[in-house]
Amino acid sequence: MAPSSLEAARSVLSRQFGYADFRPGQEAVVAAVLGGRDALAVMPTGAGKSICYQVPAVVLDGLTVVVSPLVSLMADQVRALKEAGIRGAYLNSTLTPAQQAEVLARARSGAYDLMYVAPERLADPRFTAFAAEASIPFVAVDEAHCVSQWGQDFRPSYLAIGDFIAALPARPVVAALTATATERVRADIVRLLGLRDPALTVTGFDRPNLRFAVERCEPKRKDARLDAFIDERRAESGIVYCSKRACVEEVCAHLRERGIAATRYHAGLSPEERQRNQRAFVADDAPVMVATNAFGMGIDKSNVSYVVHYNMPGSVEAYYQEAGRAGRDGAPAECLLLWCDGDIATGRFFIEQESANEALTAEESEVVRAGRRRMLEAMVGYCYTTDCLRRYLLRYFGEDGESGEDGKGGEGGEGPASDPRCCSNCAGEMEAVDVTAEARAVMRCVHELRGRFGKTMVVDVLRGADTEAIRSRGLNRAASYGSCDAKRPLLMEVVELLAAGDYLTITEGTYPVVCAGGRYREAARDDFSLCMKRTASKAKRGAAVRSAGAAGVAALTASDEALFERLRALRKRLADEAEVPPYVVFPNTTLTAMAQARPATAAEFLAVPGIGEKKLATYGEPFLAEIAAFQAEAGA
Ligand code: ADP
Repeated sequence: MAPSSLEAARSVLSRQFGYADFRPGQEAVVAAVLGGRDALAVMPTGAGKSICYQVPAVVLDGLTVVVSPLVSLMADQVRALKEAGIRGAYLNSTLTPAQQAEVLARARSGAYDLMYVAPERLADPRFTAFAAEASIPFVAVDEAHCVSQWGQDFRPSYLAIGDFIAALPARPVVAALTATATERVRADIVRLLGLRDPALTVTGFDRPNLRFAVERCEPKRKDARLDAFIDERRAESGIVYCSKRACVEEVCAHLRERGIAATRYHAGLSPEERQRNQRAFVADDAPVMVATNAFGMGIDKSNVSYVVHYNMPGSVEAYYQEAGRAGRDGAPAECLLLWCDGDIATGRFFIEQESANEALTAEESEVVRAGRRRMLEAMVGYCYTTDCLRRYLLRYFGEDGESGEDGKGGEGGEGPASDPRCCSNCAGEMEAVDVTAEARAVMRCVHELRGRFGKTMVVDVLRGADTEAIRSRGLNRAASYGSCDAKRPLLMEVVELLAAGDYLTITEGTYPVVCAGGRYREAARDDFSLCMKRTASKAKRGAAVRSAGAAGVAALTASDEALFERLRALRKRLADEAEVPPYVVFPNTTLTAMAQARPATAAEFLAVPGIGEKKLATYGEPFLAEIAAFQAEAGA
């Protein structure tokens, strides 16, 4: 590729978007596309996939088509582009046929650099007729995993994209973008979209500004825990994910009763209400969103400071995607997962229910179920691990956590010199307790019972319980009967922990049984060991939390803070006037930098990260005036 086009791309990045540098991965994708090569970009949510197609769209002559399933988001995305001085449009079913015709007429006259198109439109004869004559140098497919039946969000309409591209008079460069990590889905994307020798870019799944925390919490204590968590963050915006609609209703009502401006989102609400609530959240009118996993795909609200999971989700993919909606502006953010045994049971139940997919044969369904079971166990493993949570997540996505550490086993416990800002395990909020002896007893018992009984029976036999169920089956004569005097909840947890580590399998169904897992034999080896997480003593925990808090606070002085609040109020006013979400005006990171740098001239204003010429032209005056007024008052 001519170096000049990458130079042009850099200039677009800084002039129009106001960013000094590409983020990791972005430059590789942009360079591939501008060099005429297809690209497959695997980047986690929030990594900045949009730039990968928006920048080439401006540099390339002709119209860039962006296929996206996120219809409800397109209007906002186009508005944000306009803010950056980029000519965008969208085409989806929210427009009337007359409006669609108008968009296409304008596109014909070369009015746009970029057009978002819902996949269903690609089959619309009016659009194909337009595309047959238009100059389309580049097609970007966002959320490309939707083309795969193995992904979580398969959309049949995505299967038409390959044909659409093949039917264009000149084959465009094609880029596929996704946050999904599995090999199988990636292979489907390449095959079904017909990518030609794509440049593969996989970028850091690490999100250094996110702090992870896991807490085991009995159902009746969850509300109190949530209250305490939110009370410490009253000024901030966050999302609370629940696994069921009814739970969303309860939690949302509970928060409102406590005077918190919460709103809700789930598939049981009318489309109007969903849209209204989403807007209220994005506009910061309702800073707390309580929702099922139906909420959030493609929501670009950058100032979400925390994501709480009120229940354990069904996979690490789902968890990381949802948790990843926090801190997209790069500011420190918190991801808290509250879980209880019931959540695991619910997860297993969901897997069983889900098998009723008519499109699959019984055999295929079983393959899918087995896959989901493995995904669930990995999620349970995250809840139980005593290792660094971040490292656990990164390993899951195929990235090894920091070098030097011995990766084997993963249940090592206290990491050396760990940073409390990293996660609750590194902060020592949890202590590792060695339960190897108990685990061996459980394994022997499961072996002896030949995988015919459930968790309760296994634990009862180990503890030598005198029950009718045991006597009637003669299990009181088993060798492992009464072989372990540990407390009942501890043994229950050891069984789950062994299942999470794939030493045991717990089947789903009406009568779940505990039987051998894939690593069954490994548990019999001499070097086998198992640790369990316990809440650390109060004193230790308090110290850890305090140091985490101190380290996590952004380095704003009290005076910076006061200015920040004024700038934030100004942003809200301007955003409401322009009917755009506040982060479209400026993200929090830009406001923070502004409060610290206190620019007095246009040139100084431009030097603030996130501010380009277009933003200077639109917002320079009011913000510079506000800063000047603040400085004058402070000086007076
Ligand atoms: P994704 O689609 O990968 O989830 P987005 O494209 O929505 O992520 O980008 C996430 C955030 O990162 C946005 O707020 C965007 O403005 C910001 N961003 C993207 N690229 C850059 C960059 N090069 N420098 C600074 N911020 C960026």
